[in-house]
Parts: sequence; structure tokens; C-alpha cells
Amino acid sequence: MPFAALGLLPPLVRAAAAREYQEPTPVQTATIPVVLRGQDVWAQAATGSGKTAAFALPILQERLEARAGTRGIAVLVLVPTRELAAQVGGEFRLLASGLPGSLKIVTVYGGVSVNPHMMALRGGADVLIATPGRLIDLVERNAARLGGVGTLVLDEADRLLDLGFAEELGQILQRLPAKRQTLLFSATFPPAVEKLARDVLHGPARVTVAVDPAQTPLITERAIELDQARRTAVLRQLLAQEGWSRVLVFVATKHSSEHVAEKLRRLGVEATSLHGELSQGARTNALLDLKAGRVQVVVATDLAARGLDIRGLPAVVNYDLPRSTEDYTHRIGRTGRAGEPGVAVTFVTAATYAHFRLIEKRQGRQIPREQLPGFEPEEREAPAIAPTGGVKGRRKSKKDKLREAAAKDSSRLDGRPGEHSPS
Ligand code: AMP
Repeated sequence: MPFAALGLLPPLVRAAAAREYQEPTPVQTATIPVVLRGQDVWAQAATGSGKTAAFALPILQERLEARAGTRGIAVLVLVPTRELAAQVGGEFRLLASGLPGSLKIVTVYGGVSVNPHMMALRGGADVLIATPGRLIDLVERNAARLGGVGTLVLDEADRLLDLGFAEELGQILQRLPAKRQTLLFSATFPPAVEKLARDVLHGPARVTVAVDPAQTPLITERAIELDQARRTAVLRQLLAQEGWSRVLVFVATKHSSEHVAEKLRRLGVEATSLHGELSQGARTNALLDLKAGRVQVVVATDLAARGLDIRGLPAVVNYDLPRSTEDYTHRIGRTGRAGEPGVAVTFVTAATYAHFRLIEKRQGRQIPREQLPGFEPEEREAPAIAPTGGVKGRRKSKKDKLREAAAKDSSRLDGRPGEHSPS
């Protein structure tokens, strides 16, 4: 089906063609007509399925048609990370670049000077793409007026609706007009945020398209059993044998991000770290260097798990397991994008075995276990049901500690708000 059949006008159809989008993706086909007729949307679609253009194209069309001149902010797009703000802003700008008239698209996020943002928002904006913290900062400085927002988009909506952003999102919502169009997009919507989603929407069209990236044949999932202490060596081995041009490696903490990148560099691998404690310049450079092939490996925290579109990323490695099954979905969705195949490798140690089984169960599939010759694990798998503590008066054995770690991991997964309960 061509873009024109969805109700898009010729300038927008040309804008899509200029991006080399030959035909709409399923989420675009399902969503664009609904957005154009002004209805709320609750869209769940796989990572990398073209969600940004699914809301950007109809929004730009609405702004073209509305050309009455905006003094405030007409469309607000909220995203959870700075990198995603830059990416979504870039997509809006590219799509708008050939359109008649000049729509004003502004991107704001934290970690950089606020003054240019204040200047940019003088006189309002057709579309403002923002992270919540910086937006509130601008509102408090009277630099962003939200009273005229006609359309609100929450990209990676489940992340924005969960506890980490609850307070900021609440502050923003209370400043928005009650009568507005609201669009929610994400690959995952855990049950705990469903009620919140319903609260911000009015009569939405619910769109669900290929939620599971692994349902598309493009991502091959692998699970490698190994000893915890040999993960860097195995990673080095994989880099040598798999011929991956670039790899995004996920770790659990900022410290590990630094530490693993440093160890890889000592082994002669071009590697850099990416986490929330780096300066915004360093964060941006890490991604630019990966995209440009200046580094082979970026070792990142879950900061990089959401939404980032890195063309030609053949592999993602879960060096540490993700905390939740949603994080697993988003992490592996960084590869296998836009029709290119990708591989997602997860390292499974004795201590994380039970946790990984839980993730698999919730994903509804089992990934065959592999071992690399020369790196076969020696640590023993911890039993799924951990006994409580060791024998009184005896020092905990290594096995006791492994059992405890496994039990702790699985209870963390169980106890996390927003999780599916095990089926
Ligand atoms: P997104 O899910 O918005 O991050 O988009 C994933 C990738 O798909 C991006 O690289 C887009 O440029 C690309 N894309 C979006 N829409 C289309 C389309 N209709 N045809 C081909 N590629 C697309």
C-alpha cells in the first residue's frame, strides 16, 4: 500500500520518498490514518518498526494544514533519553526539510546549556521534542508554554509512565490542556503501566504490530554459557571469530561500562563506554564513533537500550543480564533493524542461569545454550530453588554464594514493578 493511500498529502508522500521509505511499515499503515483523524493512539510495535515516522508524518501534515501560526508549543514529543531526543528530532527535521513553509522543530534535553533552548523556544514551536527534566526546567523559567499543546506523544511510553519518571510526567501532564490528542508508542507495555496509559488516553485506537522483535526472523538469539570471570575473554574471542564490524555490549552498571571498555582496550579492541555519568559530549561521541566505525565496541548501560537506531549494527551482547524481560526486548532490538539481520548474544553464568530462564519463560521461548571451545564453564549451575543460607557456623561455600546470587536475581525480576507475572 502506498503512503498516499493512508491519507497523506503529496508533500508528505514526497518527504517519505526522500527518506527512501518506499512503502509504509505495518505500524505506519495502522497508525497514520488514525492520527490524521485526530484520535488517540495506543501503539505497541516491535523495536525498529518505523514508529517515529508513524507519528511524525501525520503530525507534520497536521502542522502544515494548521498554518495559522503558533505562539505556544503545538506538539510535544516526550522521550526518555537525550540520545533518543536527538534521534527523534533528527527524523522530524529530515522529514520536514522538503516541506513548503517552514515548520519550527525544536529539540531540548539535559546535560547541555539551557540558554540556546530558551532562545529556540521564543515564539513557540510547531513540534518540541524533549526529555522530561529539561522540559520542566524550561517551563519553570517561563521559556516553554504548554497550555496550547494539541498533541502529546510519549515515545517509549512505558518507560515514561513507570516510576522513574512518574513525578516529572505528572508535573508536565498537569500543565497540558485536558482536551488534546495523545499518542503512546512502545515495543513493550508491562501490565503495571497499563492503567496509567489508560488514564492519559481518551478513546484510543489500539494498534499492536509484531511486538516481539525475535518474531521477525532478523534477530538471531544466542546464549553462551561461561564462567563469570571469563566474559571479557569470551567477548574478545567472539569479536575475533564473528567478524562483527561493530557491537553494542550491555552491562549492568556505570562502573562495569568503564571497566569492561578499559579491559577491551588493553586487549587491543577499539572500545568506549556509554553511561549516564559521562558528559553529554562524551555520550554523543560514543554513539557517533560507533556509527562511523571509529570504535568497534560500545560498552553501555541500559541508557542505550531504548529506541536508538544504529544502522548496520550486526550484534548486541548482553555481558550482564538485563534486569527485566522488557529491557531484554529493548536491548536486543538495537540490532536487526530496518531489514538487516542481527545477532543478540547473551552471556549466561552459573549465577545468572535462573534469572535467564525466567526471561526466556516470559519471552515464551528457549534459546539453545552454547559453549565456546576453550571457554567451557567450570562453575556449577545454581539450583532454581535456593535453600536458605548455609549451615550455621560454617563459612558460606562458593556454591552457597552462587545460589544466593541466583535467588536474588530471580526475586529482583519477580519483584520489579511493571513485570509480567510468570506464566
Ligand atoms: P524507528 O522504529 O522509528 O526507530 O525506525 C527504524 C528504522 O526504520 C529507521 O532507520 C527508519 O529510518 C526506518 N524506517 C522508518 N519507516 C520506514 C519505511 N517506511 N521504510 C523503510 N524504512 C523505514
